[in-house]
Amino acid sequence: MAEGDRADRLLTSMVERLAQTGLVKRRGRQRTDSTHVLAAVRRLDRIELVGETLRAALEEVAAADEDWISALVTDEWARRYGRPVRYERLPKETSERKQYALTVGEDGMRLFQALLAPDAPARLRRLPKVEVMRQVWVQQYWYDEHGDLCWRGPKQTRDRLSRRHSPLRSTTADASDGRPDPASARVPWSSVEIVSPHDPQARFSHKPGKAEWVGYKDHQTETCDSGLPNVIVHVATTPAPEQDIDALERIHSDLAAHNLAPAEHLVDGGYTSPAAIHRARTEYGIDLLGPVRLPPRSRALPGFNKEDFHPNWNERTLTCPNGATSPPWKPTLADGQPRLSVLFPRAVCRACDDRPQCTGNVDGKGRHVLLLPQPLQEIQNRVRKEQKTKPWQNRYAMRAGCEATVSETVHTHGLRNCRYRGTAKTHAQHVLTAAGTNIIRLSQYHDDARSTDPQRGQATRFQHLCQQLSDGTRTRHS
Ligand code: SF4
Repeated sequence: MAEGDRADRLLTSMVERLAQTGLVKRRGRQRTDSTHVLAAVRRLDRIELVGETLRAALEEVAAADEDWISALVTDEWARRYGRPVRYERLPKETSERKQYALTVGEDGMRLFQALLAPDAPARLRRLPKVEVMRQVWVQQYWYDEHGDLCWRGPKQTRDRLSRRHSPLRSTTADASDGRPDPASARVPWSSVEIVSPHDPQARFSHKPGKAEWVGYKDHQTETCDSGLPNVIVHVATTPAPEQDIDALERIHSDLAAHNLAPAEHLVDGGYTSPAAIHRARTEYGIDLLGPVRLPPRSRALPGFNKEDFHPNWNERTLTCPNGATSPPWKPTLADGQPRLSVLFPRAVCRACDDRPQCTGNVDGKGRHVLLLPQPLQEIQNRVRKEQKTKPWQNRYAMRAGCEATVSETVHTHGLRNCRYRGTAKTHAQHVLTAAGTNIIRLSQYHDDARSTDPQRGQATRFQHLCQQLSDGTRTRHS
């Protein structure tokens, strides 16, 4: 089930069959939500990680060629790696812990040198845990200009999409020998940092104020057409730190490939942006319904927002609510994305009574506005206005039901904890959970439909009574 797209094909076959019988509506309405999934591994701190990674590699090498490894093993190695490396058995003092990490690093390098020797069996170098160890050593250690093994510093920045292509890290490397300078010799961001040798694809992530975990994310997409059962039609398993919005393109392309793309897709703010709404509409014909982010400073500055300004796309100017028109805007980049930079003249803004609320600065500069490219800016303006209205909120209310589905799969079917290790097997678990949830729902659907929907079956006695009272064929006894 974990090979290739076998698990996905199982769910797709089920949904196809349901679509043929009319229980799933093509081009209907769907909703998506995600939840965090805990890997089936113990959470390790960095020092436990390197010790446990070396121990796991030694175990695998010993199982493959006991005679070869026996020449390397010392009494110290037997003491350090003879049993699982656990936090409570490690040194407590900071300096001793750092020394322990360096000792493990040196031991690991001795193992690598032995494995790379010409007379070492080549198959040992290709063992999976040895490869994991190689990657962990690259991520946790580095050699300084004196040739000394050093422990990398903790990470400083989160793996924001906008920083993935940032040139800052590469420019800090010394061009002469390719070594990073000590200030940038840090562990990599969470999207690439291995946190357990026993599940090298599991990643660390956290939702501020909600959850902190090592593992994956599960995205569930289900139908939500009135009068029909809610069927999970798509499941995506992603690394824990990946943003929800990064999974959207895959969900849409998979659904479109099987002719299951919805006409309307309800999602929370984590999946929406003007660009995502635009792409869903133009590439897949999907109306993506979800709130777009409000301006980050809108609470602190209750003055004029970007939507209150009127762009003239032909003249490339912006007119503010007080009637001042900007000079032509200039193209620029923000987080690597194209933007239009508009700066109102200082003299105009200084003379304006609304300047403190509008510009938010005290140094007398003019108002600065960053516009998106025209189609995206129009979407942002439209959705920010619409999402405050009652009709939009009524239409969007249907999305909340997806949280009940997540809760059902987590609390009833054990989705929160991985039963297997690795993305492929974890995904197979998620798909099988979704398929099982569908079967349970469908088995209950006909009972529900018979008891609640007179169009689909015989009305119950109570429904029949209510109907008679409402149409006047029966009178109430006093
Ligand atoms: S501060 Fe400048 S941009 Fe803002 S309303 Fe006044 S004139 Fe217009």
